[in-house]
Amino acid sequence: MSSQSAHVDLGSGRRRFHLPVATLASGYDLAIPVLVMEGARPGPRVGVSAMVHGDELDGLLIVRELWRTLDPSSLAGSLWLMPVANPLAMEAVTRNSPIDMLDMNRLFPGNPDGWLSEIQAHAIATGFIDQVDYLVDIHAGGTFPWVDYCYVVNDEAFSRAFLSSLLYKPRTMYPNTTASAAGARNIPMTVVEIGGGYHDQPVHVTNGVEGVRNMLRHAGVLAGAVERRPRQLLMHELSVMRPHHGGLCVPRGVLTPGQWIDGGQPLADIVHPHTFETLETMVAPFQKSVVVLCRNYATRVHPGDYGFMMGNGESATWYD
Ligand SMILES: [Zn+2]
Repeated sequence: MSSQSAHVDLGSGRRRFHLPVATLASGYDLAIPVLVMEGARPGPRVGVSAMVHGDELDGLLIVRELWRTLDPSSLAGSLWLMPVANPLAMEAVTRNSPIDMLDMNRLFPGNPDGWLSEIQAHAIATGFIDQVDYLVDIHAGGTFPWVDYCYVVNDEAFSRAFLSSLLYKPRTMYPNTTASAAGARNIPMTVVEIGGGYHDQPVHVTNGVEGVRNMLRHAGVLAGAVERRPRQLLMHELSVMRPHHGGLCVPRGVLTPGQWIDGGQPLADIVHPHTFETLETMVAPFQKSVVVLCRNYATRVHPGDYGFMMGNGESATWYD
């Protein structure tokens, strides 16, 4: 079962509709917007979603730029853009929905009889993910951390086409994500992680748009040869480094995703905000560590937060 609002024709191959979710306690209707670009020729339908997590703004900026710069008449097939998959979380600048405090990206394919985030996930799974032939779900580092890599989920070539220098193929994905919902249908999908922490937004938007355009060439929606990025690194092991204590996370230096550092190198001190005592020092976990997610400013950090992410460089492999 899926439900869509009526489509509003915007002219020149563009239209929009929304996926109704629920009436909120305030009386306002919660609905997820979808922007459609319909090509002049037949072809696959590619879905691009952003802001499944409400503090990951870069995907929204990328979708905005895709909508602004792509010409529907040049497409074979169509593009379905979901700029804000989690409107209430966006409003609150939080990863999770502020109504039920749940992480929607652990709840797919959702449940129409469940919590609000489950109802919302169900609307997106049935109304969007089940309706497309390819899916790109864009994430970022959140309010503070900066990230730049791409998951290999079920189609290596599709993921490589995003042109990230870093790729990660986990042994097991987190359960009940957009990737699981797309994987259950066997459609090619990838999760892109780009930007966050307000770092170099124009660069991330440019790279993100270029990456998605290249994926559209891979899918045959855009004409032209698929660009290849040489020497992409495929990581098989990744450490999510979560501080045991909260407070201030004070970095020892400035890091960049893709940078190689030696094991044991200190990355940041977690400092008590009253006593200034160092509660712990976070150090690079692998003999050869590859920076995946970093914090380059002094930031507030929670115990168990995303502090840093490091790939294991020793077990990583290079594509030609
Ligand atoms: Zn995310």
